Amino acid sequence: MPKAEAIQVTIRIRPPSAAESAIGDSTVCHQIRDNTLSLETADGKANIECAYGAVLGQEAGQEDVFEAIKGTIVGVAEGINGCIFTYGQTGAGKTHTMLGSSPGNFDGITVRAVRRLFEDLHRNKTEQQKGGEESRFQVHCSFLQIYNEKLQDLLSGAESGNLNIREHKNSKTKKAEVFVSGLSEYRVTGVEDVLTLLSAGTRAREVRATDMNDISSRSHAVLQLSVEAESMGEDFSVLKRAKLSLVDLAGSEKMSTKSVLGKEHSKELTSINSSLSALGNVMSALGEKSRKHVPYRDSKLTRLLQDSLGGNTRTSVICCVSPCQSAAEETKSTLKFADRAR
Ligand code: ADP
Ligand code: MG
Repeated sequence: MPKAEAIQVTIRIRPPSAAESAIGDSTVCHQIRDNTLSLETADGKANIECAYGAVLGQEAGQEDVFEAIKGTIVGVAEGINGCIFTYGQTGAGKTHTMLGSSPGNFDGITVRAVRRLFEDLHRNKTEQQKGGEESRFQVHCSFLQIYNEKLQDLLSGAESGNLNIREHKNSKTKKAEVFVSGLSEYRVTGVEDVLTLLSAGTRAREVRATDMNDISSRSHAVLQLSVEAESMGEDFSVLKRAKLSLVDLAGSEKMSTKSVLGKEHSKELTSINSSLSALGNVMSALGEKSRKHVPYRDSKLTRLLQDSLGGNTRTSVICCVSPCQSAAEETKSTLKFADRAR
């Protein structure tokens, strides 16, 4: 199990699509050992070892990915935050990994993580009750997207404008906590409730996407579950609080120097690149032993996740890559991010 604060990096290589195979886009990225892959780019062929996590090859299924990262979420019922990101270029398999293989089929990390969380909460409750304690828990769910540095509620039912991130001091822990002012949070009692919200939020995301020329790959989607578990013994009661954050990041592809981009589109890419590099900076600052300053304030994404990155948190980054030659340069840059994040 990773220690709290540790950042685990997993690399998932997806299979080539039928279309890629049909045009003979050759496979240049292979898993060769549990923690090693080989990648061939214009510069040559190299074996790259991930000393910091697993490499999952194209035959890995959704359950294999969950097995690789579940250490990140098993502490949530015990009061340790869990945070999981999918990172990679558009088309690399982020949404497939995080949500599922198709819009109607949520078989990815999210449903598995949520199911596990509720199992843990129910088990703890039963054990505490057996021990003669009164025990209860509550889980609330929110779902938002960050597009062009604007926070938009995906569950409000209406077009929410730009929500603000605020900070308050927790009266119990005396620590500063961030929250999104005006964000809807729904009480959920099991995985089915979360799936209902996910469907609604994903639909809201798609509607916006068609309105605005497919922005879904250019926004970060953040699903958060806030957990409160309380047990009351004869002498004292214990309250444990934690958050599970599941983040499908915007595509990490670089701004193309060849294509001429509209003003709107280049603004989007600039904002994505700056928030992804802010995330990378935060992660590498967290990895340094003599950590001085962690630059959470450099983007909405890192600010929102401030209390879920570092501190009492386990973090996992799943770097998704295409196996194809046409994507080799992007794959290389995703692996660079993976190397910074550990
Ligand atoms: P992204 O969210 O990174 O843009 P997607 O998750 O939408 O990419 O994946 C692009 C396409 O590839 C989708 O049709 C998806 O179903 C398919 N795909 C991605 N990963 C896998 C995988 N591991 N196995 C099979 N198909 C995959
Ligand atoms: Mg996607």
